Amino acid sequence: MAPNADNLSAVLYGIKDLRLEQRPIPVPSDNQVLLQMEVVGICGSDVHYYIGGRCGPFIVEKPMVIGHEASGTVVKTGKNVKHLKPGDRVAIEPGVPCRSCQYCKTGSYNLCPDVFFCATPPDDGNLSRYYVHDADFCFKLPENMSLEEGALMEPLSVGVHACKRAGIEFGDVCLITGAGPIGLVTLLAAKAMGAVKVVITDVLSKKLEVAKELGADYTIKIERNMSEEDIIKKVVELLGQEPNKSFDCTGIESCIRICVAATAAKGCAVLVGMGKVEINLPLSKALAKEVDIRGIFRYANDYPTSIQMVQSGKINVKPLVTHHYTLEETLKAFNTAHTQEGNPIKVLIHANPNWKPS
Ligand SMILES: [Zn+2]
Ligand SMILES: [Zn+2]
Repeated sequence: MAPNADNLSAVLYGIKDLRLEQRPIPVPSDNQVLLQMEVVGICGSDVHYYIGGRCGPFIVEKPMVIGHEASGTVVKTGKNVKHLKPGDRVAIEPGVPCRSCQYCKTGSYNLCPDVFFCATPPDDGNLSRYYVHDADFCFKLPENMSLEEGALMEPLSVGVHACKRAGIEFGDVCLITGAGPIGLVTLLAAKAMGAVKVVITDVLSKKLEVAKELGADYTIKIERNMSEEDIIKKVVELLGQEPNKSFDCTGIESCIRICVAATAAKGCAVLVGMGKVEINLPLSKALAKEVDIRGIFRYANDYPTSIQMVQSGKINVKPLVTHHYTLEETLKAFNTAHTQEGNPIKVLIHANPNWKPS
């Protein structure tokens, strides 16, 4: 590749200071692949870094390439890479763990304390023309899947992981609080894994409409004057019973409280959203019902499941995509994701200069 080849990259310098600049095209090591980046979705965490310079405990302290929900095309492979070749289209799992700690060795590599994770400070993300990644965290896309669907395997894996943690089984009855992208992928995964009835809540009716389209059996539009008790009553009324699996996908205290309190005896409340460091929970209610409260963090070993779910037609992620931008339009894309103007669900950025809107 020519030394002056274009590697335009979206680099976050600080709060609301996102710049497009040229970076050298990286060289893959023996176990890596060089990727032509194709589609990169904007995540809530990217917006947090852009607007506030931080997300939870992670703070942007030096310039960082943004982006982690991505797909790419293999350009070059390191000499040890056997399962990929130039031209292969891949979904990129953004977290590469150490592979040698006890969590990595026992398969819970999402809990590895020494993980490289795209666009989590100080690690660079992949909203750029070219990017190198460890080949074993690149998953070849089947013929019948698009690069856009490939980028959506990252959020979908969060939903799949949440449902695995909940132990979703055929016949489960579920409550999901929050119909943003993560609430919606959790809905998709829960239905595909056998949940028979799902009720989902949100403050925006637009999001609930999409949830309906994606298979939600019931929706509840949360109004200001509704108390937690009112909402739980409505949940039980609609489902005809208490949900045996609940998922909070907001990180908001009142929603987490509703999930914990609403869950049926012997059920499970999974907390997916991350918000305040400390929150009050109606614990005695949960204890008296032997409700399991489980946290989730990212995903582990879920990309293959996500890809097979979409490949087989069990899950359709396409309705999540609402907006498309080019890499040059990155600032506009972040503005849309941040202001929520035009009711975006998933905003996608196309990093390949040859991309044409269809
Ligand atoms: Zn994300
Ligand atoms: Zn590890």
